[in-house]
Amino acid sequence: MPKLANSKVLAEGKPGSKQLLLGNEAIARGLIEGGVSVATTYPGTPASEIVDSLAAIAEEVGIYVEYSTNEKVALEVAAGASLSGLRSSTSMKMVGLNVAADALMTLGYLGVRGGMVIITADDPNCHSSQNEQDNRYYALMANIPCLEPSDPQEAKDMVLDAYRISEELELPILYRSVTRLSHSRRPVVFGEVGRPRKAEFKKDYERFVMVPSNARVRHVALLEKMESAKRISDTSSYNKRLGDGEFGIITSGNAFNYVMDAIGAIGADASVLKIGMIHPLPERRVLEFLADYETVLVIEELEPFLEMGIRALANKHSLGTKILGKEELRLPRHGELSIKQVALAISKALGRDPGVKFENPEISKLILEIPARPPILCPGCPHRASFYAIKASGIGDAIFITDIGCYALGSLPPLSVGDVLLCMGASAGLSAGVSKATGKPVVGIVGDSTFFHASIPALINAVYNHHRFVYVVLDNMTTAMTNFQPHPGSGLDSLGRPSKRILIEDVARGCGVELVRVIDPFDLKSAVGALKEALAFKGPSVVIFRRECAILEAKRAGGRPSYVIDEAKCTRCLLCINRFGCPAIMLEKGPSIDPSLCNGCGFCAKVCPQGAIGVLGDED
Ligand code: SF4
Ligand code: SF4
Repeated sequence: MPKLANSKVLAEGKPGSKQLLLGNEAIARGLIEGGVSVATTYPGTPASEIVDSLAAIAEEVGIYVEYSTNEKVALEVAAGASLSGLRSSTSMKMVGLNVAADALMTLGYLGVRGGMVIITADDPNCHSSQNEQDNRYYALMANIPCLEPSDPQEAKDMVLDAYRISEELELPILYRSVTRLSHSRRPVVFGEVGRPRKAEFKKDYERFVMVPSNARVRHVALLEKMESAKRISDTSSYNKRLGDGEFGIITSGNAFNYVMDAIGAIGADASVLKIGMIHPLPERRVLEFLADYETVLVIEELEPFLEMGIRALANKHSLGTKILGKEELRLPRHGELSIKQVALAISKALGRDPGVKFENPEISKLILEIPARPPILCPGCPHRASFYAIKASGIGDAIFITDIGCYALGSLPPLSVGDVLLCMGASAGLSAGVSKATGKPVVGIVGDSTFFHASIPALINAVYNHHRFVYVVLDNMTTAMTNFQPHPGSGLDSLGRPSKRILIEDVARGCGVELVRVIDPFDLKSAVGALKEALAFKGPSVVIFRRECAILEAKRAGGRPSYVIDEAKCTRCLLCINRFGCPAIMLEKGPSIDPSLCNGCGFCAKVCPQGAIGVLGDED
């Protein structure tokens, strides 16, 4: 079970006390104060710490916490609890909501009983994601309200209001965070811990069974609820006007912070309408604000979500206010905003010089001098050995379809195993399509957690539809990339207690795969043999490379010996660097191993053709 430093504080912090919290920890405290009974997730950055914080104290605070197999299941479990009268939450990174979208799109028709909060953590700038999608649009499409906080205090407080609104409207609430909020730290004042609801499932066929005759009626009911949501938005304290300046700015979420800093820096005399309930828009307040100014700027991160709604509203009411949005302000629809960007955009709109310099030559100099540090697999990572075996097996010319997880880093040099990466679990389906189209050897690569998340239907499809590819499952027995959460193959439940271990090889055989091999990737000869055998097989085959994550293994072993290169034996062929690439092996005068990085896995000793690498202290 992942450990987080502040979990105890979240459980034991007294009302009125002030604690320094991550945005995600503040959301977790908000869930506790909101009386959440069931909190589910599939881990994904930047959302992971919400449930990680709760998992460590779940028994203490009486919350059922679950790492579900994927986001759709997580949403459904939370929805089931909510239909039964309990307050629930599900949290996920933004692409996770795509997986959960099927359930989300109809959940509004059913509505909820206990309050339900669906937390999406978006990732402008792709810090740890494959795209920059703006999940505010999901609220529009699913017809459910959406709240968006700007700082950790608001993030905590808003959860309580989300529950209140959810129960008032009997609708789930989409609650949007972004990386910059989820991972920023600010003092947060605690409130009272909420009391859990009592569970009771009351049958209601017309409401809960979405056959077409009921769905038509429920759609109308949903639209009516969203009319009520507009009234709530208009009176929400999260939609507020600040200042009384010469021109107006409408903003929300993280962009609000940039706006306030930017107008402070350039001394702009602006009024700001900060929108916290972003769907439905507080129409009356927006109209009043527009009517008060000749010019209103709309400043938001990513897509022009607010801007489109505000322009439509101004049009409908024939307002002559000049609205300046993304295009006019030249603010990008990608990446994160910055104070400088926003300050320059505002200055340009006003036709004036910003009057401040945003460049600090000293800092710029330092930035130039810091060498780039591309992401890389850890020293001793078993995935590196698996990729090395793939290369050593002579199938380096195959087409490699990789997947989401640490092992995506294997697509970088010197391993360079990864020609396509799309989304969670797509490796099996894509492998089938590429092999069918090209007739060439195709190797799909997936991690253990991702296998359980979304690969299984595609594997069944591969067997059923006579596809042919090798599916390599890199099983390090944890969800390493997001903080070592357990999964069905780890033998532990969400609280770290022993649980039924579901073996990937059993699942693969159950899917109908006839050639399944399980190999320790550190056994290079067997790994290469299994790959060759799998490649020759006429059908889908599965090779599971199983070895515990190096970080977990080192923690458990309590330290391991360092390895060293014997200069006398080393021929400087650089195979250990250019083909294997462990970051603990440096090139200075010749190759050498940094003992502070080496975790003693010993695989480099197998790679060196000269036998020049051995345990430090064991040299001849
Ligand atoms: S692989 Fe062996 S011989 Fe070649 S550079 Fe590395 S340590 Fe030296
Ligand atoms: S033993 Fe070799 S491969 Fe393993 S971490 Fe140390 S240097 Fe890297």
